[in-house]
Amino acid sequence: MELKTNGLMETKKVPTYYNLVNGERKPSSTGQTFRISNPADKREILGEFQQSNAADAAEEIDFAQAAQKDWERVPPPKRGEILYKAAQIIETDAEDFARTLTREEGKTLPESRLEVYRAVDTLRYFAGDGRRLNGEVVASDDPDVLLYTVRTPLGVVSIITPWNFPIAEPAWKISPALLCGNAVVFKPASLTPLIGWMFTEALIKAGVPPGVLNFITGPGSTVGIELVRNKKVAAISFTGSYDVGVTIQKAMSEDGRMPRIQLEMGGKNPLVVLADADLDKASEIAAKGAFGVTGQACTATSRIIVEEIVADRFTQMLVKRAESIRVGDGSSADSDMGPAVSESELAKDLNYVAIGKEEGAHLLCGGTRLEDPPHKHGFFIRPAVFSEVKPGMRIAQEEIFGPVVAVLRARDFNQAVELANDTEYGLSSAICTRSLEKANEFVRKINAGLVKVNRTTTGVSVQAPFGGMKHSSSMTFKELGRSALDFYSYTKTVYMGIRPP
Ligand code: NDP
Repeated sequence: MELKTNGLMETKKVPTYYNLVNGERKPSSTGQTFRISNPADKREILGEFQQSNAADAAEEIDFAQAAQKDWERVPPPKRGEILYKAAQIIETDAEDFARTLTREEGKTLPESRLEVYRAVDTLRYFAGDGRRLNGEVVASDDPDVLLYTVRTPLGVVSIITPWNFPIAEPAWKISPALLCGNAVVFKPASLTPLIGWMFTEALIKAGVPPGVLNFITGPGSTVGIELVRNKKVAAISFTGSYDVGVTIQKAMSEDGRMPRIQLEMGGKNPLVVLADADLDKASEIAAKGAFGVTGQACTATSRIIVEEIVADRFTQMLVKRAESIRVGDGSSADSDMGPAVSESELAKDLNYVAIGKEEGAHLLCGGTRLEDPPHKHGFFIRPAVFSEVKPGMRIAQEEIFGPVVAVLRARDFNQAVELANDTEYGLSSAICTRSLEKANEFVRKINAGLVKVNRTTTGVSVQAPFGGMKHSSSMTFKELGRSALDFYSYTKTVYMGIRPP
């Protein structure tokens, strides 16, 4: 490392990464690049990526369309074998992947390892579907007609992912897309393209043919939007913020086109804590859900709704847990929570802390930037707990996407459910209770795609469908599980007349 006069600490040479176009690494036609750095120490530059434009994206789509024709002829079990191989490649280098993920996104090493293994699991799960990509035989009204369904690929799929799970999200989308016989153009978030590139490279090494998986970096507003508008794109899978989701939904149908769409977006996820709950466990569940991965999870616990009678006791326990969290570089074994991913995300978090205070909520702990020597070059914030939060306050309504949690009080179970549903979002939710009856009632009444009982709002299994309601999702097709195959394939119904009528 050397310290340059402009304050940037660089390795002797910053590695340059390219787009992957029809199996070849290619610079953008703009000739421009952008750099990414470590959020725990912004002086560490990790790489230089292509600042592509719409024409570059269109070129990748053309190649993808051409390559898809042969790819769909590859039998699904063979496609599955490639996914298995990619899983093996990543598993062999899992520690390297995890360390890169931590340096790029900031989460702690244990969190990165979990995410890398989530990607490996996802590849393996969908690889198995190579031998199960079945249609169904349907009872026929005509004895001379064989009635059945077959799955066919959609064609070219655009995959646009956020920065917070920069290997898991691409794995969730790209694995089923390829398995179903589609060609993919993949655009990672501009903050975290490196681990997305490593994931792509593993699939290429595993044998995905040229043009079937293409990789492009560049701004969402130009490259991303081309991946949405281009007439050759048959489907778009996007995960990110609600505002960008709305932009995509409008853009995709501007010319009357109706590509298949899957939009998974933000959350304002509630955890309800009832008076009968094990409060110590509930505070552990709350802290993990709110501050795990620095609160930068779409499923993070953002509102905690506590039955009044135990609210003070529970809140004290939660504050104690928040204060014991060691904030620092995710690469260090001494850190429980890493930095915000960027200066602007940190500024957003701090701004919401200021808004909460202005609105009259009580800041019980945290919410300040860490600027002492080990932290001063990173984007570190202490985990914040607000109490006395009223339902109409902005910190109770808007997605913060950082380690800031709002505690609200409820008279009883019914009011708790009402408050839990009082949001435009509907991604994840949880309840802590010992009552099976109330847990069941909560499952019935909560408007969220994910409902957990005595577990954190975060964390999902790759074999279970995942997606939200309301502003959290287009509510078209769920991700993961069997429903991912339904999104990435089209079902044809065949009436095979065996004899003339
Ligand atoms: P953004 O919506 O800002 O970006 C997501 C992706 O969309 C990025 O690749 C971005 O590119 C791209 N993009 C931006 N503008 C456009 C556009 N006009 N057209 C097409 N693509 C565009 O989200 P973040 O990356 O900031 O991620 C955080 C958000 O993601 C949070 O709201 C979070 O809740 C949500 N999320 C939801 C999940 C879910 O499953 N429901 C899971 C994980 C996160 P670029 O980076 O170049 O701007």
